[in-house]
Amino acid sequence: MLDLTYEPPAPKVIQGARDDWELVIGLEVHAQVASAAKLFSGASTLFGAEPNANVAFVDAGMPGMLPVINEGCVALAVKTGLGLKAAINLTSAFDRKNYFYPDLPQGYQISQLYHPIVGEGEVIVDMAPGIARRVRIERIHLEQDAGKSIHDMDPALSFVDLNRTGVALMEIVSRPDIRGPEEAAAYVLKLRQIMRYLGTCNGDMQNGNLRADVNVSVCRPGDYERYQESGDFAHLGTRCEIKNMNSTRFIQAAIEVEARRQIAILEDGGTVVQETRLFDPDKSETRSMRSKEEAHDYRYFPDPDLLPLEIEQAWVDDIATSLPELPDEKKARFVLDYGMTEYDADVLTAEVENAAYFEQVAQVSGDGKASANWVINELFGQLKKDDRDIGDSPLSAAQLGRIVALIRAGDISGKIAKDLFEIVYLEGGDPEAIVDERGMRQVTDTGAIEAAVDDVIAANPAQVEKARANPKLAGWFVGQVMKATGGKANPAAVNRIVQDRLGL
Ligand code: ADP
Ligand code: MG
Repeated sequence: MLDLTYEPPAPKVIQGARDDWELVIGLEVHAQVASAAKLFSGASTLFGAEPNANVAFVDAGMPGMLPVINEGCVALAVKTGLGLKAAINLTSAFDRKNYFYPDLPQGYQISQLYHPIVGEGEVIVDMAPGIARRVRIERIHLEQDAGKSIHDMDPALSFVDLNRTGVALMEIVSRPDIRGPEEAAAYVLKLRQIMRYLGTCNGDMQNGNLRADVNVSVCRPGDYERYQESGDFAHLGTRCEIKNMNSTRFIQAAIEVEARRQIAILEDGGTVVQETRLFDPDKSETRSMRSKEEAHDYRYFPDPDLLPLEIEQAWVDDIATSLPELPDEKKARFVLDYGMTEYDADVLTAEVENAAYFEQVAQVSGDGKASANWVINELFGQLKKDDRDIGDSPLSAAQLGRIVALIRAGDISGKIAKDLFEIVYLEGGDPEAIVDERGMRQVTDTGAIEAAVDDVIAANPAQVEKARANPKLAGWFVGQVMKATGGKANPAAVNRIVQDRLGL
């Protein structure tokens, strides 16, 4: 097993008016299953359709309609569980969570409270090279999304759009193992990355594909370790839950202000009330939505319309064999196989498409390290400038691979390679052919380089004097020769001949 070793990061400490405080955070992430059809109906999940265009009778809660489980959604939840190294429960069950809301026409949400499909797993959250937090996953359950109520389209009327009603969600519940706002954001991004590798959730946060409820509490230094040793939550502070966050920037801001609010209460001698709060990014504050006393009693009970969900180990094993190489493994392999830094490996494995592109460049060029540099510095830089993804890069991996191969073979210098990169990026074409057509090939013919060096030496007697007294100045001659040859002379050869001719 390829394994990068890591240390945990230091927890974030906030200095209150009197004391130091640490943060404890647990997340409930709602990830939309990347399925074309809903969890219990064949209606489409396509985003941006006409309101109420994608609604089956069962989604609309029509009397007598029966839900039928979508096997594809179950398979994607299992795949997600396997990707998070989690236990898969061969028997799980659906419960009704009863509440009234206009965009929930059934009058209940079908969820999995008592017997979730996925049990305990883990996510390694990288914070810096060699620094990572292991966050335990408590469970993942499948549930239905609710629809959307629209209150701001008409002064007198509210509208209901049921397109999202019944779309499959995976609720991924973490243990309270996250110790700061940056870690929380990095955790969400790591989950997103893993699920995008797996193809189980698109992770499009703007479209609400990935939303998080963020639980925050504060404690005194040492208390978290006491909780970890004993498993006793009494060592931790009372938590508040901030609902429905769909931006990592807001998650960080919300945690920070919520922790400070709790610290102010505690230092004032007050107590934190467990409640659900909402973050207001404009005012940068959290506001109470409902307290525990007002919390709904959902009257959960097993859904009588659905049999317990039984899956077979052989089916799970099949899904396991279809798992792709995951980000942690890919990253470790890139460090080992290509000798790149962990930082570069992070950049290249952020998206699976980037990693695949890089590996093709490396394969064509035969030089992993140089390929990593060219992909990260030149290609990503240029794509970013042009606001493009790797998917619509004008430069194919094969083309970039051949450019790097030309450098490696000594056919072109690194400097000329940048010109070549620009030409192929803008105009397309075969790198070797362009090098030949435009006379870009590096001059390795020593005779020609010697002549150029001799010319520069003959024309600059004063500089020759200086360089003989101070050998560091020989670089000036190398520069002049490179200029005279249009950058095409082999720099190592120029350097050697300059040293030789100056008698250094
Ligand atoms: P509930 O059923 O009330 O939602 P859970 O046990 O499911 O409670 O916990 C919900 C989330 O709250 C989990 O992600 C968990 O890690 C987190 N959590 C629990 N206790 C704390 C705490 N003291 N501080 C921060 N987060 C917590
Ligand atoms: Mg919960």
